[in-house]
Amino acid sequence: MAEQKPWTRRTLAAQALGKVDAQTQAVVPPIHIATTFIRDPDNQYRTGNIYGRPDNETVREAEAILSALENAAHALVLGSGMSAATAVFLALKPGDHVVAPKVMYWALRNWLMNDLKQWGVAVDFVDTSDVNAVRAAIKPGATKLVWLETPANPLWTITDIKAVSEIAHQAGARVAVDSTCATPVLTRPLELGADIVMHAATKYLNGHSDVLAGVLATNSDDDYWARIRRVRAIQGMILGPFETYLLIRGMRTLHLRVFEASRNAMELATRLANHAAVAEVLYPGLSSHAGHAIAAKQMQGGFGGMLSIRLRGGEKAAIATAANVKLWKRATSLGGVESLIEHRASIEGAGSPCPPDLLRLSAGIEDVEDLYQDLHAAMG
Ligand SMILES: *Cc1c(COP(=O)(O)O)cnc(C)c1O
Repeated sequence: MAEQKPWTRRTLAAQALGKVDAQTQAVVPPIHIATTFIRDPDNQYRTGNIYGRPDNETVREAEAILSALENAAHALVLGSGMSAATAVFLALKPGDHVVAPKVMYWALRNWLMNDLKQWGVAVDFVDTSDVNAVRAAIKPGATKLVWLETPANPLWTITDIKAVSEIAHQAGARVAVDSTCATPVLTRPLELGADIVMHAATKYLNGHSDVLAGVLATNSDDDYWARIRRVRAIQGMILGPFETYLLIRGMRTLHLRVFEASRNAMELATRLANHAAVAEVLYPGLSSHAGHAIAAKQMQGGFGGMLSIRLRGGEKAAIATAANVKLWKRATSLGGVESLIEHRASIEGAGSPCPPDLLRLSAGIEDVEDLYQDLHAAMG
């Protein structure tokens, strides 16, 4: 028989790694719900299953799929994107220093600004799209972690993962990337040199706006990863088995959804850039975007489903547009099959770099003509 090429990530995701239930030959494995397991008569636990808080077989199935998607050796599924992100910071030690982006997911930025110091960890926020600014912010010896998000909420700022990883590693710091909006379909941060990749699986990975979940993945099974595992186990941050099953089901269509959302976002960005009511479109797929060249290098197959528009009529026009849409759903979050629109400044609060005239758009998988017409009418 001829040698076969390894199956692609898309194929592996569609079949959830092709796992079949050994007892029934079911093409969908059963959901493992037990919280406790029988000890062997000689007091051992040979299956590796002891108790539900540190680990779960259904969760391990999701982690195997995520490892394949991110080209990672190890993955952890957690109860939310925030529990995944905070576990990475809670595994640091008092005295450690962190460099984080000025433009990033607002709830994590607020937690870093207001709460992390209680654990003795200091944070500096820099423009991570400027490699020299990152270099200047790193304190060799003290900086243990550089946190990135690309494309970053809500301006879709692009950071060069490869360049920042080189700088961070020279100074002995790890790099973690919130890759929620890029998804493993379009970008694989570990292949670009990052040490840890994080996802709010609530968004594209699940894709149906009905599960809160988080993911971490890495190739380094070191002390730091062990501390992150321990944070999940001790604090009970593992995702429940039913939600994990939904996440696995969602990931079967990940590639279809992400490619379609990216196509819709690109089409909307192109058309809205020429719309009389729109002052600016922020989308890394447009050559006018400051991060376009780096995005074109580190994203493959599309630029993602997220874009923002700034309205010529200012904040009032932005809020009115969000009020007028009929098809777009006026809601926070992103990455679902349904398109969402949000006046971002209303939610981000103090310290946000988000201008008041900005609407954030999460392009879903609907007919792009319907999506455009609805926006056009709402801006009218
Ligand atoms: C939603 C989101 C998070 C937080 O995820 P939750 O599941 O809501 O806790 C983190 N980062 C990004 C980029 C997000 O969009």
